[in-house]
Amino acid sequence: MTESKKLPMIYVTQPFLPPLEEFLPYLEQIWKSKILTNGGPFHQQLEQALCEYLGVRHIALFTNGTIALVTALQALRITGEVITTPFSFVATSHSLLWNGIKPVFVDIDPNTLNLDPAKIEAAITPQTTAIMPVHCYGHSCNVDAIQRIADNYNLKVIYDAAHAFGVQDGQGSILRHGDLSVLSFHATKVFNTFEGGAIVCPDAKTKVRIDQLKNFGHVGEVNVVAPGINGKMCEFNAALGLLQLKYVDRSIARRKEIDADYRERLTGVKGIRCLNGAGEQVANYAYFSILVDDAYPISRDDLYQKLKDNGIHPRRYFYPLISDFPMYRGLPSAHRENLPVATRAAQQILCLPIYPDLDMSVVAEITRFIAAQ
Ligand SMILES: *Cc1c(COP(=O)(O)O)cnc(C)c1O
Repeated sequence: MTESKKLPMIYVTQPFLPPLEEFLPYLEQIWKSKILTNGGPFHQQLEQALCEYLGVRHIALFTNGTIALVTALQALRITGEVITTPFSFVATSHSLLWNGIKPVFVDIDPNTLNLDPAKIEAAITPQTTAIMPVHCYGHSCNVDAIQRIADNYNLKVIYDAAHAFGVQDGQGSILRHGDLSVLSFHATKVFNTFEGGAIVCPDAKTKVRIDQLKNFGHVGEVNVVAPGINGKMCEFNAALGLLQLKYVDRSIARRKEIDADYRERLTGVKGIRCLNGAGEQVANYAYFSILVDDAYPISRDDLYQKLKDNGIHPRRYFYPLISDFPMYRGLPSAHRENLPVATRAAQQILCLPIYPDLDMSVVAEITRFIAAQ
């Protein structure tokens, strides 16, 4: 690509929206019934539909993924210290601070960039009560190794599965692993309800508890059993979710094509490594991430800036590391010597544009640009 031939502004993602006219009947129904929230019919239908689509037993919808993370920790009464990854969106660790829990950062695996199970045991103390891993980019964590450690030390496991909508391993949804999994339906995610989230839980009793906690701790009209929060998804978002669900398979199929195209076009470009998943049976292609190493002619940040100057807006997910933010960097586990793999990944990572409406000719331009440096 020459400097003069500028591309249109391309962002790392563009939210998927269904045709507006298809949403109008849902809105009419809300206006007619005047049921706007508090577990109305669309809320119930979406919980049911998501259980079927994802292949999970119980799901509790939320206003957003962050409130769902905060509530998941409350539901399991997690306290003390929780082992987590520094290579994630800041909401992962923030949900711990909102519960007065101390995050303990553990380094990541260089291949998947997920929490490295081999490093977890050394970080366990008498105060440790849980592990909060992230299925980063929708690539599955080493769930078996993590569960073995949790069983040995009697720890709970709460997965931040914000990226992992629809991902399956050989036995089914990866959301069935651990004690709870938390989804995000934010506009930037594979499946969006504008804002939204959910907790996937294994049994009905836990769902009842979570449903109380997301509704102020109310049980019936006059009882309040816990200092719950208002985390309920309203009917507008739930209705939108029902409509989005009709399109999500097509969206993921399109993402898969784009992912394959990037991989093919970037093969053999020196200094660029396309991140692979952990061999998921069904992937969701939520992100397309590359690592820019020393063999590449320019630095990751120079490539990032050059792409931006040409109208392409990739993102450095995740740079800076969570452990480098002011409210975390004083923690002993936040020291860079403790996190060498994550520190290097944060310096090399670049997420390229991927979304259902992305034109293949843009993928060609982006990869040509990267190869031409
Ligand atoms: C998006 C995201 C969240 C937060 O979800 P919201 O719905 O935006 O509150 C949490 N963790 C990770 C890893 C995310 O990417």
